[in-house]
Amino acid sequence: MDRNKLTRNILIGMAAGFLLGSLIHFMTPAADGLLQVYVVDGLFEVGGKIFINSLKLLVVPLVFISLVCGASNLSDGSSMGRIGLKTILLYLLTTAVAIALALIVATAVNPGIGINLNTDAQYIAAESPSLKQVVINIFPTNPVKAMAEGNMLQVIVFALLVGVAINKCGEPGQRVRATLNDWDEVIMRLILMLMAVAPVGVFCLMVSLFANMGFSAIGDLAKYFFTVVGVLILHFFLTYGLLVRFLANLNPWIFLKNVAPVLAYAFSTSSSNATLPVTLETVEKRLGVRNEVAAFTVPLGATINMDGTAIMQGVATVFISQAYNIDISLTGYLMVILTATLASIGTAGVPGVGLITLALVLTQVGLPVEGIALIIGVDRLLDMLRTAVNVTGDASVATIVARSENKFDMDVFSQDSDAETEAVV
Ligand code: ASP
Repeated sequence: MDRNKLTRNILIGMAAGFLLGSLIHFMTPAADGLLQVYVVDGLFEVGGKIFINSLKLLVVPLVFISLVCGASNLSDGSSMGRIGLKTILLYLLTTAVAIALALIVATAVNPGIGINLNTDAQYIAAESPSLKQVVINIFPTNPVKAMAEGNMLQVIVFALLVGVAINKCGEPGQRVRATLNDWDEVIMRLILMLMAVAPVGVFCLMVSLFANMGFSAIGDLAKYFFTVVGVLILHFFLTYGLLVRFLANLNPWIFLKNVAPVLAYAFSTSSSNATLPVTLETVEKRLGVRNEVAAFTVPLGATINMDGTAIMQGVATVFISQAYNIDISLTGYLMVILTATLASIGTAGVPGVGLITLALVLTQVGLPVEGIALIIGVDRLLDMLRTAVNVTGDASVATIVARSENKFDMDVFSQDSDAETEAVV
């Protein structure tokens, strides 16, 4: 199927799923009604879960094979080092900007003033590992275990090492590389096969999500909710738009248009990780980023770059401090920027983890972790939105790095817009 048609069908699937799910929600408030049990929790939930599982299925083989190919194609170690350094710096920078924006807007809007602290919801903070352990854990002891557990950073480290070794190995290395390049094609084909059924998968996910989503929870939290949404939109258009325009010297509208299909996957799965196969395919085949850069930047981003999550954490921190009437000083705010940027590295790209790492940020500035219970009611919907921002951040950094390294295909980037111009002419 033609790509634009597919994108259109995915968007139709999303909208139809949203409408049907919301309709079911208002028609059957009882969680044990027949419609709920057999249709929503049965048919649609099964369909949605199968779709997410199929996306996740491709993540580990894709990251490993694609990254080995990418690393083995880089002719020298210094360009690999440069790409790595630029990528990590840009990821840190965009996250710091995201959270600074969130703090500025939230302190102007004051979403938490006058909030009623009596809530039945409870939040028990999970134990988070120490920084030392986080660093040690990046290095795998057993590649098979890393893959089986889906530990992305460990898989990335192993794949990079194998890629470098292939590069240094002469003829045997060439043979392995040729085989892996073929495997890369096969995996990409699997992604395309899965994308062909995405409209149905996304439809099922949206129905089961919105049939269970309680909008009444927004009530008191409307100000918090819309502040997060506002900053997400601001960061999405302004920060990424300006970065793509000035650091990559590309038209931001074409960039956003090309990246749009990925947003539908991120929104309906709430997981940067599950979206990864589609992000990588899109970054290479629609944005024009060459495999050498995309294969490293995108999986790393899905694991450590969470701008949308950092935005939620910034607004939530201000909200909780105001709700509890606890002042955070200027140094406190700087601390929030620092810890939320680091916390975003430790946030795995799966649904809802942003709330867990929020505990880390709150503790750091002396705010009560139980405050998370106040915002939990609206987090599901925010998770969907912030995941879409998270993956857009990965795609924009990949594009900027590829442009600066001359590993970018302008023809691919502008293919659809050329076609459109021709069609108009
Ligand atoms: N769901 C987000 C993601 O996968 C992480 C989070 O904010 O909870 O990108």
